[in-house]
Amino acid sequence: MAENLNLFTSTQEVVKEALNKLGYDEAMYELLKEPLRLLKVRIPVKMDDGTTQVFTGYRAQHSDAVGPTKGGVRFHPMVSEDEVKALSMWMTLKCGIVDLPYGGGKGGIICDPRQMSMGELERLSRGYVRAISQIVGPTKDIPAPDVFTNAQIMAWMMDEYSRMDEFNSPGFITGKPLVLGGSKGRDRATAEGVTIVIQEAAKKRNIDIKGARVVIQGFGNAGSFLAKFMSDLGAKVIGISDAYGALHDPNGLDIDYLLDRRDSFGTVTTLFENTITNQELLELDCDILVPAAIENQITAENAHNIKATIVVEAANGPTTSEATKILTERGILLVPDVLASAGGVTVSYFEWVQNNMGYYWEEEEVQEKLYKKMVDSFEAVYTTATTRNIDMRLAAYMVGVRRTAEASRFRGWV
Ligand code: GLU
Repeated sequence: MAENLNLFTSTQEVVKEALNKLGYDEAMYELLKEPLRLLKVRIPVKMDDGTTQVFTGYRAQHSDAVGPTKGGVRFHPMVSEDEVKALSMWMTLKCGIVDLPYGGGKGGIICDPRQMSMGELERLSRGYVRAISQIVGPTKDIPAPDVFTNAQIMAWMMDEYSRMDEFNSPGFITGKPLVLGGSKGRDRATAEGVTIVIQEAAKKRNIDIKGARVVIQGFGNAGSFLAKFMSDLGAKVIGISDAYGALHDPNGLDIDYLLDRRDSFGTVTTLFENTITNQELLELDCDILVPAAIENQITAENAHNIKATIVVEAANGPTTSEATKILTERGILLVPDVLASAGGVTVSYFEWVQNNMGYYWEEEEVQEKLYKKMVDSFEAVYTTATTRNIDMRLAAYMVGVRRTAEASRFRGWV
């Protein structure tokens, strides 16, 4: 049988197994197998050349049993209904794992921001907020950055919402610039969270971070900050990549130089001649492999060739279910996306809390709180996996879905 590369249906399969193991019946799965709400919108945008282009966008709200829904908005040509649905379910799981009072949400627009001017991006961002305004809000559904969206886009979206609402609403969206109510440490939070779980995973496998060989696929927000943090901790980052290719140096790459040369979409390899492919990068001999780019990168095809001792998923969905089984059987410690990349939404939550009380924390306070959340969550998932003798993904799904299932039961929905 061909491998299931559909993120939505493969997520459903693991959610079903997790609910099963937790002792819930079919009715709970029926409730949680799809988002409660999915809005599809069409957004007309005046382009710089005077033409009008109509973009398609989505907002999915998986479950609001625990609290308002929360999750990013991605701008990408590959955005689809199934992807947004799967991503909203993952946000429910992430929020459950790090214990935030949210359910999962996610949005996306089919577009290629690399081909758009700032003016076009601003009009698209504002148009999206107007289109989804009826179902979002600081106590309903709180968007944030995701693939190819950033603090500037959050600022336009916040401004548009505030104008419609007729008062300043910083709590409508997170990942904002600091001057508009952003939180200290939000921009680096995903990578910080990944760094913390890498350290915890390394302890379990007796790997010293100093001198450990690290390969990072993707040089976007998570990948680039992570490369910096790992090299600051004394690890040797021997491989990095972007959408166009990968760089490899067994003696360690000069990360500061690469960070200096990357563009705002994380492209850097186009400046070099001796590149390798992304597939070759994944199979490099290393201690820690971090897929921090896109989906379905480690599959049944290449899982047998992965040489890392630990694989930490900083991207959403980089490893298929079948590959997860192969890696686990081979004794590779896989830290799944819903745990590893939860640092972003955790600091988003801190940002929202600060917006709600109008009092802002120092960076140390943010870091301390993030550290505790990530370490506790890693331990909860690791213990569930080892005591039940299941893979880390299934364990993370069990930890992640439990609260939403419980809340749905208490509310009398199931
Ligand atoms: N887009 C990020 C994620 O997938 C962050 C979501 C948020 O901050 O709400 O976790």
